[in-house]
Amino acid sequence: MCVAKKIGPAIGSEMVAVEDKVYDVSKFRSAHPGGPMFVSMFGGRDATLAFQTYHGRPFPHDKMKEYLVGSVDDPVAPDPDLAELQVKVRAAVGAGRPSLAQKIKAVTLVVSAVLLELSCLWSRNWLKSCVLGLLFALIGLNVQHDSNHGAMRYGGWTQSWIGGSQLMWIQEHVVLHHLHTGTAMDPDAQGVPVLRLNADDPWFPWVRFQHWYILILEMGYGAIPLFGSFFEVLAWQHKLQKKYQLSELAKPWRLQNLAMSLLFYARLIVIPYFQGELRKAIATFAVGGFYLAFFFFLSHNFTEADFTQNTFFKQQVAASSNVGGSWLSWINGGLNYQIEHHLFPRIAHSHYPTIAPIVKSFVTAKGVPYVHFPTVSANLKSVFAGLEKFGLPPKKDD
Ligand SMILES: [Zn+2]
Repeated sequence: MCVAKKIGPAIGSEMVAVEDKVYDVSKFRSAHPGGPMFVSMFGGRDATLAFQTYHGRPFPHDKMKEYLVGSVDDPVAPDPDLAELQVKVRAAVGAGRPSLAQKIKAVTLVVSAVLLELSCLWSRNWLKSCVLGLLFALIGLNVQHDSNHGAMRYGGWTQSWIGGSQLMWIQEHVVLHHLHTGTAMDPDAQGVPVLRLNADDPWFPWVRFQHWYILILEMGYGAIPLFGSFFEVLAWQHKLQKKYQLSELAKPWRLQNLAMSLLFYARLIVIPYFQGELRKAIATFAVGGFYLAFFFFLSHNFTEADFTQNTFFKQQVAASSNVGGSWLSWINGGLNYQIEHHLFPRIAHSHYPTIAPIVKSFVTAKGVPYVHFPTVSANLKSVFAGLEKFGLPPKKDD
């Protein structure tokens, strides 16, 4: 795929490449309408396809002349299919700003979680702990996800509030997963040695049973961003791997993220410990983590997922699947419309049910498979079948 080859320190960390031009983003970032942090995360990288998916218009090279510092010999080009579809979708929903109902939902979720957490300071019980975990997950899906994609304003900080780190989430999800879906540069596609998620992964005897233990594994998911992100931010590498290193340009936000993690430990570990209620606090992480992991895993690990397409647009569609309809979209922040989300991450999720038929007819006309499961159980059945398939020992001639 043409997207992966530009990653890495081929250009200085204070620069970004867009098509055949290189710009000094350290000078431009304070003028970036979406705020300096988001654009800083792309320092040292090619941002051609990121700009196209987030802005849906040609890059304004003329207006950016004062920041121009060089050129690249082997440029990444905007995807023509995506450009064609963007015109149709923009005609239907404009810039795709969140509806009033979506904003009210976001405020309601955050206020409810804060009030419930405060009430836990007086008394914590199993029900409150589990509901708090569910509220954290719903904030993750409905508030932080839209906000850190630039589809909604003000809510990006909630990622660090519910556990984990805003910076690390943008790195893992926006910079890596969305632009490199299903490839070696997508952290979400790496399961080794616990899971074998594609035919190129090494096989271990226990993966024979991966379709049985996946749901148990997902219960532990909450612990990964909770405990891992603090050390990842310290090391400045997602999953502590050099290939997932963050941009040097984002370091001004490092201390803030570390402080939010320490505050989270104080709120959800130290205080419950002194209350003698640590096990109930662990229930919060288990419920929230399981809910998030369950729905994340459905979208890219179904049997029909195809990670071998030869263009960005086709890869985004063929590697993702949809499930259910507008009700599940309202509950899960539109992530059940994963195809639309990957093509239009900056359109607020309240518009996904509206744009889905437009996307489906365009994608189908282009001959790309558009997978939409009618129910969660049908999606889950496909996921189990895929895990069972990759869990079998590879044949000698594979
Ligand atoms: Zn996303």
